[in-house]
Amino acid sequence: MAMNELEANAYHWMVDMLESIEVGLVVLDLDLRVQTWNGFMENHSGITATQIHNKVIFDVFPDIPKAWLTRKVDAVAMLNIRTFISWEQRPYLFRFRNTRPITGIEEYMFQNLTISPLSGPNGVVEKVCLMVYDVTDIATSKRALERANEQLEKLSMTDRLTGLLNRGTWENLVDAEYERFRRYGHTTTLVMFDIDHFKKVNDTYGHLAGDEVIKRTAEVTKRAIRQSDSAGRYGGEEFGIILPETDAEGAYIICERIRETIERSTVKTNVADITYTISMGISQLDDRPENYMQWLQRADEALYKAKEGGRNRVVINK
Ligand code: GH3
Ligand code: MG
Ligand code: MG
Repeated sequence: MAMNELEANAYHWMVDMLESIEVGLVVLDLDLRVQTWNGFMENHSGITATQIHNKVIFDVFPDIPKAWLTRKVDAVAMLNIRTFISWEQRPYLFRFRNTRPITGIEEYMFQNLTISPLSGPNGVVEKVCLMVYDVTDIATSKRALERANEQLEKLSMTDRLTGLLNRGTWENLVDAEYERFRRYGHTTTLVMFDIDHFKKVNDTYGHLAGDEVIKRTAEVTKRAIRQSDSAGRYGGEEFGIILPETDAEGAYIICERIRETIERSTVKTNVADITYTISMGISQLDDRPENYMQWLQRADEALYKAKEGGRNRVVINK
């Protein structure tokens, strides 16, 4: 075989392979008109190479974010470097149905995307090549793992951010403490507290700084209570403490210590030094609550009064 015949063969095989490879190949000119559209793209879109040839990609796929892709392509062409976009940044560029039989739970194909510059004989970038990889399997496993971790967190006893008991566990303890009181009549007190104007902290300094404030609140609380007391994260920025063998006046002293410590301290974050306050409600258990939830409610009423009374204070529900 003559040399150029060998080369011609090799070229044909190459084109055949690119046609049948399990990766989407699209060549766009700098006006984003489709120049090449391989078999993978035909199969998943139902649009043939002939149909789409020379069409502007956005006219055929109106879902594609125009400004975003234009910016990416311009950058690739101008800087003459390849760029990579993972499915975690953008789940897909082309909205293709997921056809994987095993991972059929995801509706659409997750895609990794590479955009490479293609230069002409003079070295100037004239076109770009998009490579579309089907990563549905990876994305599905990762998502399943995330979901499993969420489940695990629910099953675990502590809250990840603060290390305090999580709501479910803490509420069970409140319930148990309530039953203990009914049986033995030991003095016991419940505290509910909430960070003041926390929305403003989030809005001004961002959620991460907000999380630091929540962590600090938990640390101060842990340091102020005894081994036999139980502190829990009741909600986002709401906390609860069970103080067995403690009456309302004793609880008031502990609460004041926590409130004052927080008022005086500063949380140093990357964004700013943050000062903040908390409001606290106390309810010593007596015969009135008919279940633990009513006990919780009584502490919550005191907390509400502390908020109404101007915040940064401790109120006992008598
Ligand atoms: P108030 O003084 O009346 O309590 O005012 P507030 O702004 O603190 O109001 P509220 O207690 O209703 O605010 C709850 C806010 O806390 C809303 C929510 O965006 C935020 N939040 C809840 N959980 C978290 C969390 O885990 N992290 C962060 N950063 N913010 C949270
Ligand atoms: Mg609050
Ligand atoms: Mg709140």
